[in-house]
Amino acid sequence: AKDQGKNNFQHNRAGKNEQVFQYMELENDLRKALEREQFVVYYQPQININTGLVIGVEALVRWQHPERGLVSPAQFIPLAEETGLIAQISEWVLREACRQARQWQVEKSQYFKVSVNLSSSQFQQMDMVDKVRRILQETELHPQYLDLEITESIAMHNIDFVISKLMQLERLGVHISIDDFGTGFSSLSYLKKFPIHTLKIDRSFIQDITTDPDDASIVTAIRWMARSLNLDVVVEGVETGEQLEFLRSIDCDKVQGFYYCKPVPAREFERLVTRGELM
Ligand code: C2E
Ligand code: CA
Ligand code: CA
Repeated sequence: AKDQGKNNFQHNRAGKNEQVFQYMELENDLRKALEREQFVVYYQPQININTGLVIGVEALVRWQHPERGLVSPAQFIPLAEETGLIAQISEWVLREACRQARQWQVEKSQYFKVSVNLSSSQFQQMDMVDKVRRILQETELHPQYLDLEITESIAMHNIDFVISKLMQLERLGVHISIDDFGTGFSSLSYLKKFPIHTLKIDRSFIQDITTDPDDASIVTAIRWMARSLNLDVVVEGVETGEQLEFLRSIDCDKVQGFYYCKPVPAREFERLVTRGELM
């Protein structure tokens, strides 16, 4: 009966506003997707360009929609954020990524970090650290193999709260990265206050790095700043050999991008490693 009421509400609203209807339909679909386990995690390797070795993988969620096909996170994460469903989706992704990383350790003796994106609302949850701890225990993944990616905008929200959460995560032993670094218009002062380990330089700075001297300067400056602050750097969105050569020349040795590999399902990733296309 409750469901019936919901549908009526939708139809009434639809008459007035088609967009609201579509939105609610998608929200409904998203709820069902959770129940029916329609989400899948794809993995994109991070490579050390000097050794060619996989040093980590980023977990990126996709929605295997029965009619729409594979839906990209850009299309449903914003809706999931607004409706609050992001918390459950993110928790599922975190558990699945940790489970998979542990399975690669046990079955294939492959040890590398798995990076999981933390949404801002997930970060605001009071019991976020407990949830992370519980999932690590459940999946038996050692904390040192989990990297949590947060954006600068999370970092800017409520500094004291964020610092205390990050310190709890640090005590837990997980690794923290700042995602999309350089795009957040934020103060750099947090870099020395926060217990973070890695800056992921945003893809927008890399796109034209071989032709735009400004981008080249920015990336070079971030690289040197990171070095003096003792932070690691991962460069995102590397697509060409020329970009790679430039990054090599400024001593950026950790990259993630289509040049090496697109995000792929776990089985595909295993095949690439087995075939020696990735190590
Ligand atoms: P992001 O965290 O910055 O993830 C990197 C995105 O860049 C991925 O898009 C990846 O496919 C894409 N990418 C990687 N290398 C290249 C490249 O060389 N060229 C180009 N053009 N793109 C590249 P994707 O998987 O579509 O994810 C988009 C965004 O959705 C992510 O950006 C992240 O903000 C969000 N997202 C994905 N999975 C999750 C999740 O599990 N939880 C949350 N909260 N957000 C997620
Ligand atoms: Ca990310
Ligand atoms: Ca990013």
